[in-house]
Amino acid sequence: MTSPVWHPFTQHGLDEPIPLVTHAEGAALYTADGRRVIDAISSWWVTTHGHRHPRIMAAIREQADRLDQLIFAGWTHEPAETVARELVAMMPRPLDHVFFSDSGSTSVEVALKMALGHFANRGEDRSRIVVMESSYHGDTVGGMSIGARGVFSRSYAPLLFDVERIPFPEQDRAALTLDALERACMARPAPAALIVEPMILGSGGMRIYRPGVLRAMRDICAAHGVLFIADEVMTGWGRTGALLACEWAQVVPDILCLSKGLTGGSLPLAVTMASGEIFESHRSTDRARMFFHSSSYTANPIACAAAAANLAIWREEPVRERIADLVRRQTEMSAPLERKVNNLRQIGTIVAMEVQDAQGAYLSALGPRLLAFFRERDVLLRPLGNTIYVMPPYCISDADLTRIYAVIGEAVAAVA
Ligand SMILES: *Cc1c(COP(=O)(O)O)cnc(C)c1O
Repeated sequence: MTSPVWHPFTQHGLDEPIPLVTHAEGAALYTADGRRVIDAISSWWVTTHGHRHPRIMAAIREQADRLDQLIFAGWTHEPAETVARELVAMMPRPLDHVFFSDSGSTSVEVALKMALGHFANRGEDRSRIVVMESSYHGDTVGGMSIGARGVFSRSYAPLLFDVERIPFPEQDRAALTLDALERACMARPAPAALIVEPMILGSGGMRIYRPGVLRAMRDICAAHGVLFIADEVMTGWGRTGALLACEWAQVVPDILCLSKGLTGGSLPLAVTMASGEIFESHRSTDRARMFFHSSSYTANPIACAAAAANLAIWREEPVRERIADLVRRQTEMSAPLERKVNNLRQIGTIVAMEVQDAQGAYLSALGPRLLAFFRERDVLLRPLGNTIYVMPPYCISDADLTRIYAVIGEAVAAVA
């Protein structure tokens, strides 16, 4: 019997097996046919502390006994208040306002709307958005518009709006990026915002750039009054070794997007944090200037309770030590691959590499072969074309991490 489920980023015509998972614990997924699979990519970058962290699960259970869902326009509840208060305390100044939504893509849409609303409310004609080429900001129409164009967006191109693109800052060509940004900021009408994935492009191939470039981009934006939006949907919550990737360059954005690890990866929730300046430009006695955005499940109380538990874990458990330990283990265990792969690289808990010399396009024939190779060996890895990356939950054991690298080593040998 075939399933009626239509899966994301899945070509059903290829009839690839779709494992049925019944439960999970820590870094392990358990399937209906009795396999234990190592979750080497944190269930698509969301699971930070590990699956089913006891505190997060308890918070979800307790909240489910009190309040399940509430309209959030003009109403509030304790879990949302707690999360907002604690996020403001945890994140850098002046990110003093917290707008809830339910996915990373939505947090980005909200950020763009905040930026445009900010200038519109001040009577300034500024709507252009500047982005870095090869970026990824989600699969909604706005997210696709500002993200890299390719086979994934081709059919929808007529719906997408134009943006200004600056080149990715390759090692020796950062000046090209900064000059392009400078020019974009000086063009008239001036752009409203630059949006970037700080320090590393995720879906764009786990490409890392230097903190000096991030710092310089932030400075250029500040000098021209262009809002600086950091999409930390993937990089937030310790992924790059710091709470926020922006910390590597000691920059603070005007608008910050967070999702994935916000609930420890347990329930869908996102926030867009904004500076007082952006909040104030929307505040007025004029109802036409309010921020026109909502979705039904904005600040869902159970998701907020999970996020509050995540924040308590960050406060009270040695999360930073666990991350530092994983960073060290990732370095050690990936080192033997150095001479067997191209461009082995690491930032924080993320290790990436290319196999073979192929051009790394998403539809590279190698991708599905690698995927199948790893699936058959009970390791969940999902290469981006010929880029293999490892992004495990922070609780992963030495044995599981060793197994992941052993299987990658086998795959590299098989391909060679
Ligand atoms: C995953 C991701 C998004 C989209 O988040 P969803 O929750 O999948 O909508 C946006 N930006 C970045 C950088 C991401 O990695």
